[in-house]
Amino acid sequence: METQRTINRDFSLSGKGLQTGKKVEVFFYPEEENKGIILKRKDFPKNEPLVLGSGGLKFNSSRRSIVGKGKNSVETIEHVLASLHGLGIDNARIEMTGSEPPGMDGSAKIFTEAIRKAGIKEQKEERRYLRITKPLWVEDKEAFVGIFPSDKFKVSFLIDYPVASIGRQTFSGEIEPEIFEKEIASARTFCLKEQALLLLKMGFGKGANVKNTLVMDADGPMDNELRFPDEPVRHKVLDLIGDLYLLGRPLKARVVGVRSGHRLNLKLMEKLKKEYACK
Ligand SMILES: [Zn+2]
Repeated sequence: METQRTINRDFSLSGKGLQTGKKVEVFFYPEEENKGIILKRKDFPKNEPLVLGSGGLKFNSSRRSIVGKGKNSVETIEHVLASLHGLGIDNARIEMTGSEPPGMDGSAKIFTEAIRKAGIKEQKEERRYLRITKPLWVEDKEAFVGIFPSDKFKVSFLIDYPVASIGRQTFSGEIEPEIFEKEIASARTFCLKEQALLLLKMGFGKGANVKNTLVMDADGPMDNELRFPDEPVRHKVLDLIGDLYLLGRPLKARVVGVRSGHRLNLKLMEKLKKEYACK
């Protein structure tokens, strides 16, 4: 029997939010069995906790994933969720002093390493997998993301960008903690050079810089080095692993993404929520 897991002890990390540029601290706490993943705003202590997988919980997205509504919402939560999902943490409470967690290095590396350092604790109750029983997908023009029955959690992803330094990249593999840590966790956020200024104008990425975001032009990232030759597709897999944890349950499924992003990922999650009647 596979049992649920939580973190061994609490810890916190601080830095600036990638989108807001505001200084923020995020706290990770162990949580009891069957409690799942709980998000809470420390700056609004009277807010209801946001329990992932509860049916009433709203999500939406533009270039980042947002959970909850208005003052009781958190944004750009996908890298934290990816670290929890990737390491197989079933129960944890995440509290933050602002609307988004610190961006750190633009990947899930530092969250993942901090969880490992705190330690992972096996609990007694059996893991509650969300077993996908029939194919479900969403698509929009050339973009697609679908989920299919499988005994393992596998992700396949394809991206295709009209920039020589990215081009067509694919990733496909089973996602288990060791693979997640080695192959996925440290892949950083990226954007195209011409997008970067536009996004800043629109008010996004105030905490972004060329170190925590790969600003890709034809030759590669500006003032930075790639951690993997195909770092962009690995980051898309990271984001997808994070978004897939919005239902707060580990998956037995094969997930296939083609040019998908947060907006489409979250549409799939809405569909899953309805299909599997998350309460
Ligand atoms: Zn991301």
